Amino acid sequence: MPAPLARVESSPQLPASADVVVIGGGIIGSFAAYYLRRRGLQVALVEKGLIGAEQSSRNWGWCRQQNRDERELPMATKSLELWERFTADTGEQTGFRRCGLLYLSNNEKELAGWARWGELARSAGVTSHMLSAAEASERGRATGRSWRGGVYSPTDGTADPARAAPAVARALLKLGGTVHQHCAVRGIETAAGSVSGVITERGSIRTGSVILAAGAWASSFCRQLGIRFPQATLRQSLLAVTSDGDGVPDALFTDEVTITRRGDGRYVFACGGRGRIDPTPQLLRFSGTFLPMFARRWRKLAPGGLEGLRSGHESLSRWQLDRPTPMERMRILDPAPDQGLIRLAHRRAVKLVPALQGCEVTGSWGGYVDTTPDGVPAIGECGIPGFVLAAGFSGHGFGIGPGAGHVAADIASGVAPIVDARSLHPDRLIKSAWGKVADF
Ligand SMILES: Cc1cc2nc3c(=O)[nH]c(=O)nc-3n(C[C@H](O)[C@H](O)[C@H](O)COP(=O)(O)OP(=O)(O)OC[C@H]3O[C@@H](n4cnc5c(N)ncnc54)[C@H](O)[C@@H]3O)c2cc1C
Repeated sequence: MPAPLARVESSPQLPASADVVVIGGGIIGSFAAYYLRRRGLQVALVEKGLIGAEQSSRNWGWCRQQNRDERELPMATKSLELWERFTADTGEQTGFRRCGLLYLSNNEKELAGWARWGELARSAGVTSHMLSAAEASERGRATGRSWRGGVYSPTDGTADPARAAPAVARALLKLGGTVHQHCAVRGIETAAGSVSGVITERGSIRTGSVILAAGAWASSFCRQLGIRFPQATLRQSLLAVTSDGDGVPDALFTDEVTITRRGDGRYVFACGGRGRIDPTPQLLRFSGTFLPMFARRWRKLAPGGLEGLRSGHESLSRWQLDRPTPMERMRILDPAPDQGLIRLAHRRAVKLVPALQGCEVTGSWGGYVDTTPDGVPAIGECGIPGFVLAAGFSGHGFGIGPGAGHVAADIASGVAPIVDARSLHPDRLIKSAWGKVADF
């Protein structure tokens, strides 16, 4: 079963020109286009498949400040405010709720890491409660176990991945922006060294400004333009169940399994951070650059298979602008879930929370998480004047989607970004990531 997804109408015609063209209708591209349009700019959101159909509908839905890297934290805090404001301004429902996130652990080292992060949170004015053993056991009473400690972040929450990106694209349409699905962007045109247009499979759009929010496809697209963007993808898996959920927390993290209530009342289970790395030409190309990341996270990673190679998103080939590209052959990246991980997550979740025993499994799916070598996103103008990259969200992009989209829109329209995003500029990736990999 693919991840559930609400649908959006496409605009009838590709415009001849636009102030900004946004490539990729995931959560980042949709929010970027929405904020540009609110600023009065003519904007076209161009998506090779369906709005939200890749990572943005396949995730857990966590919108958190908790455990965010210092470089990302201001954007995470701003995003929570923007999720709320979006619904108030548009009436569109993303399912966002500040339900609070609960982390439980019996591991002293893990607890010490969370406590260290708590100091950063305090200095940034973010509310995060470190829980004593008694408090963790009380908050985690659905598990029927005692815990050494935990964290509760009351101002964080979740949104509904099935509805969020489509809701934002609908808001964009209502404001007069255009949305083009089943329309891959094949390349960029330049004049006097700056962006002058995009070439899609259905024709060209004249524009001086492009945002590439292409998720797992960003690096291979950048390569066509001679821009080096080191990116790797991790294939993760989750399963959905129905349960009356009596007493089950809305969002619970333990090292073994994560349990999240979705907008449709179902729960999803996943083994957090676990996944497979499919060997691809792109992975080989950047393997040295990713050593610091793999050295840090290897315990949770396993080698994958040929699926990544077949999907084409990490191709090193150069494509022709007048012929179908790998993006048209793979409209929606829909990798097979890892059945071993699915069974493990199921077993662990029902053992952890007895009320989930007897729940009915309704589906499972996979998703490629696109990551940078240091585990924080890459946002900024790079390579060609007028070309803004917003990708590499490293498993965090859904929750910070509004803030990240806003920042990309700010940069593309020459306005001071809503938060300082200088430390996220893609140019940092030229240097080694040793000592800079995000902790969580
Ligand atoms: C299993 C899983 C769990 C996760 N859990 C969380 C979580 O709890 N919280 C969180 O914050 N994040 C989470 N994430 C990460 C989050 O989902 C991503 O960081 C985020 O969705 C990235 O959004 P995006 O818009 O950059 O990319 P995507 O959603 O992947 O969108 C990119 C879009 O670009 C399109 N595209 C690519 N190339 C072209 C082209 N040339 N022309 C036209 N269209 C193109 C693609 O079709 C795609 O729709 C999770 C991810 C996974 C897979």
